[in-house]
Amino acid sequence: MKYDIVIGLEVHSELKTQTKAFCSCKNEFGGQPNTHCCPICLGLPGALPTTNKTALEYTIKAGLAFNCKINNQAVFERKNYFYPDLSKAYQISQLEKPSCVNGYVTIDTLSGEKNIRINNIHMEEDAGKNIHDDFAGVSLVDFNRCGVPLIEIVSEPDLSSADEAVSYLEQIKESLVYIGVTDGKMQEGSLRCDVNVSLKPEGSKILGNRTEMKNLNSFKAVKRAIDYEVERQAKILDNDGRITQETRRWDDAKEESTSMRGKENSQDYRYFADRDLMPIIVEDDYVLEIAKNMPMLPRARRQYYINKLSLPEYDANVLTQDKIVSDYFDECLKILNEPKLVSNFVMSNVLRLSKSNLTPDIIEIRITPENLCDIIIMANNNVIISSGAKTLFEECWNSSKTPKVLVKELGLEQVSDESELLKTVTDIIEANPQAVQDFKKGNKKAITFFMGQVMKATRGKANPEVIKKIINQQLNI
Ligand SMILES: [Zn+2]
Repeated sequence: MKYDIVIGLEVHSELKTQTKAFCSCKNEFGGQPNTHCCPICLGLPGALPTTNKTALEYTIKAGLAFNCKINNQAVFERKNYFYPDLSKAYQISQLEKPSCVNGYVTIDTLSGEKNIRINNIHMEEDAGKNIHDDFAGVSLVDFNRCGVPLIEIVSEPDLSSADEAVSYLEQIKESLVYIGVTDGKMQEGSLRCDVNVSLKPEGSKILGNRTEMKNLNSFKAVKRAIDYEVERQAKILDNDGRITQETRRWDDAKEESTSMRGKENSQDYRYFADRDLMPIIVEDDYVLEIAKNMPMLPRARRQYYINKLSLPEYDANVLTQDKIVSDYFDECLKILNEPKLVSNFVMSNVLRLSKSNLTPDIIEIRITPENLCDIIIMANNNVIISSGAKTLFEECWNSSKTPKVLVKELGLEQVSDESELLKTVTDIIEANPQAVQDFKKGNKKAITFFMGQVMKATRGKANPEVIKKIINQQLNI
């Protein structure tokens, strides 16, 4: 039997704020266990939380990035459950009145663009971490992560393959990193997702029972987990079995999932409004102010580069991978409006030096757009020798001097003055009578020989167009 695959994703993203969601503890990955916590994030009696305004601003930014309506009122609720890494026995979250609702993310699929609806984006806090030490036979808890601000982005079940799910996740990740609300480091758990999967007979309107897989923290794990789950459910349905609604744990090393617990509903968590926190009132003006400062998102930027600047898709993809590079490229275009020329230089030279081996995910550009454009212009106008642009660029990268000064210091100027080159050309013609004979007999390749000789004599500094002209003049006398 053939089935339609129905997938919904819940993406959790840690917010890159200085401090935690409801207290002033440091929000930082790593650190000695239990050094970034206080009575508030530990939930000790009498401690009162205060909402982190930046976390709220980041939540709204995410909502705007994904075309959501921003609610004027949001309410924090307590999601009650016990687990050792959550000492309060409840997580502060939003349920009935989340900050952002009814958005969508556009993804590219094999059959064109597709909008994946977003039900809501809500702000909540992270739990701590259980560390199981099998050797000592104990489990320990590190509360450093407890209270770190998170957003949860809940999609509608609009995705219909593992590839679409990965593409959706990629869009979410790159947009969140672009707007500066998260670092997107999946390996550190900054971005992770739960995947809901169900199957229904092809064309049927009735959804099947779904299973949920928790805490997938790489694109590969998401794809593998979905493919595995689709196959598992199809096998059960093919044999007239029933899918149990449950939460499953994906084991990426074994490439299989196992049942964890029956699927819980929101009622099971006994949500109720957290009376320690005031409802959040968000004024329209505040949202407009945030919207005004939103950057163009990577997907829109790629389309702009391709459609308006006529750049190849490859260039557009490379240039938009990092906001720093994209912003830099845009600044250069304000000085030199030659998109392809600038793109070539940025891709071949700037990107090569901007990533160090030690910190490959940090991009640092140590040349101003003005200086870069000067080099491109000089190379393009034959002011510098053909191999000189790269040298000049590298010197400029490590120096505070301008390209115009460096070009002189390094002797990279091209010689274009005819009278200066004439003597060299005539000397070489006189010294090579055989080549002159060859030329007169019709061997046009002799020109290449003469050009090579002049380049050698001038150590590559002669303007090739000018010497070609002089050689031609001299040989045709
Ligand atoms: Zn704290």
